Amino acid sequence: MAGIWIIAETREQAFELLGAGRSLAPGMGAALTAVVAAGSASPEECIARGADEVLLLAELSPGEPYGAHLPVLEQEARAASPGVILFSAAARGKELAARLAARLGAGLCSACTALSFDKGSGSVLMERIAYGGAAIQKLTSSAAPVVVTVPPRSFAPAEAADGRQGRTRELPAPPPSAVKIVDRKPREKAAKDIAEARVIVCAGRGFDKKEDLALARELADALGGELGATRPLTEELHWLPEDLCIGLSGVQVKPELYVGLGVSGQVQHMTGVRGARVVCAVNKDENAPIFALSDFGIVGNLYEVVPKIIEAMRK
Ligand SMILES: Cc1cc2nc3c(=O)[nH]c(=O)nc-3n(C[C@H](O)[C@H](O)[C@H](O)COP(=O)(O)OP(=O)(O)OC[C@H]3O[C@@H](n4cnc5c(N)ncnc54)[C@H](O)[C@@H]3O)c2cc1C
Repeated sequence: MAGIWIIAETREQAFELLGAGRSLAPGMGAALTAVVAAGSASPEECIARGADEVLLLAELSPGEPYGAHLPVLEQEARAASPGVILFSAAARGKELAARLAARLGAGLCSACTALSFDKGSGSVLMERIAYGGAAIQKLTSSAAPVVVTVPPRSFAPAEAADGRQGRTRELPAPPPSAVKIVDRKPREKAAKDIAEARVIVCAGRGFDKKEDLALARELADALGGELGATRPLTEELHWLPEDLCIGLSGVQVKPELYVGLGVSGQVQHMTGVRGARVVCAVNKDENAPIFALSDFGIVGNLYEVVPKIIEAMRK
């Protein structure tokens, strides 16, 4: 079978993807090629961690987007015909993976958390989480190349070994891109990382307006905790920064105590709360799914219940 490519934008991505690639390489009997962005992992580091060949992407000028590399990647991939192309499922990796797959007419399997090679059928086997973590989907690709994205931290970084040998080649500069970056603005970020919080008060769509979140903040302060949110509050209403979103498309949390206020308890949210030790909920609907997943629940209007909890906490 043809080779395995990893395409990485950062050093961490390169090492993790090399770890993923190395889990496939022996079974496939394939060489491992690391395609790395300028200023990320060095060729020596990649070779020590298992790359047989390193292709160095040219440095981009300040206004050029990462996607400018696509024509060069397509040309090289067509010439080398790798069997598998691995990207990190980080923002730019996901974008580039989809665009490269489309250019190559290849299949794309996104967010794969396990990879193996079936010698009998000559197929790459992949696993990905489905239905908010309730199931594992198994995928088989018999066509080549298959483009695969791997969520960050799914594979251990490849270990370095002494004495490994490999080749390095610099790729040509990409042709001028029609897209230019004219401005960059930092994304609004939460001051603290809720993944590390011991107590989380999570605000849900049960809040009527942004100003009312002061109530959730007040409870979080009274409990010595941090504020979290469901996705509608961060992505649709933009009341809170995106890094406070808990769940499948947000952060996985492991607090000692999670308090959901006006949170219905849909699987995509609760999958991020699985690691919580104690789950409490305040919801005016006694049939809200969150109650089935809670250790303690109060059926009531959060605007009446929460001030009473805060008062009790202060006493
Ligand atoms: C692919 C995919 C990924 C997703 N990822 C995420 C994710 O990572 N995180 C996430 O949170 N969601 C995610 N979602 C969205 C998820 O399915 C739910 O839509 C979302 O979690 C619902 O948020 P909520 O509970 O705040 O709102 P709702 O479901 O609208 O629930 C609001 C709740 O508030 C209660 N309520 C209303 N007023 C009051 C009041 N005054 N007092 C008390 N209770 C009140 C209601 O009874 C209701 O139960 C995802 C969806 C998809 C399709």
